[in-house]
Amino acid sequence: MNIYVFLGPPGVGKGSLSKLCVEKLGWQQLSTGNLCRMHIANQTDIGKKIDFIIKSGKLVPDDVITEMVSDWLIKNYDSNRTIILDGFPRTVIQAKAIDDLLKEKFPGSKINVVKLIIPEKTVISRLTSRLICGNSKCQAVYSTMTKALAPKDINVCDKCSCKLIKRQDDNEQSIKERLAVYNEHENELLKYYSKNQKILDLNVEKNLDEVFEDFKKLINLK
Ligand SMILES: [Zn+2]
Repeated sequence: MNIYVFLGPPGVGKGSLSKLCVEKLGWQQLSTGNLCRMHIANQTDIGKKIDFIIKSGKLVPDDVITEMVSDWLIKNYDSNRTIILDGFPRTVIQAKAIDDLLKEKFPGSKINVVKLIIPEKTVISRLTSRLICGNSKCQAVYSTMTKALAPKDINVCDKCSCKLIKRQDDNEQSIKERLAVYNEHENELLKYYSKNQKILDLNVEKNLDEVFEDFKKLINLK
């Protein structure tokens, strides 16, 4: 199994780059955020657990996230396709858990780590201008900042016509707090991964098409 892990703060564009890799390269994307919301919407056992934890105001613990990712890999793994992990692993504990899982179930798998680099200022303005489709089956993301990502109607999703919402925690204060927590985890992850491999750096303060071209060059794809 060939796996790419995209590291970078929320709002850096991991989701958009992953989407291009899926559309243009035929890769498979595993987004833990989307997967959580999907499990909750479908009321699965994992979903009920996650829903309860979130409603109690807690962070979803490592073992629950890892259980969800293992479950997905075992059900969806296709040996011909590269997998992108989006939003996972977030902590060294999760990184070790996925390493153990791969060793056991998918020997010979390789994890490649790509660090998406962008100034914090840019992340903050991206996140404060973000709108998300309120339909849990759609979850399309828009931005009022860039024309290409803006919805046709500021209130309505282009794809499914559901109402667009602003995430409650997409305000500057809580974004700064999230970034601080994120950076701490990222530093630990980078330390963990750089023991065994070279981390690939990708500058993402460009338009998405350029970022995608740079990414293909970085991993030697034509
Ligand atoms: Zn929608």
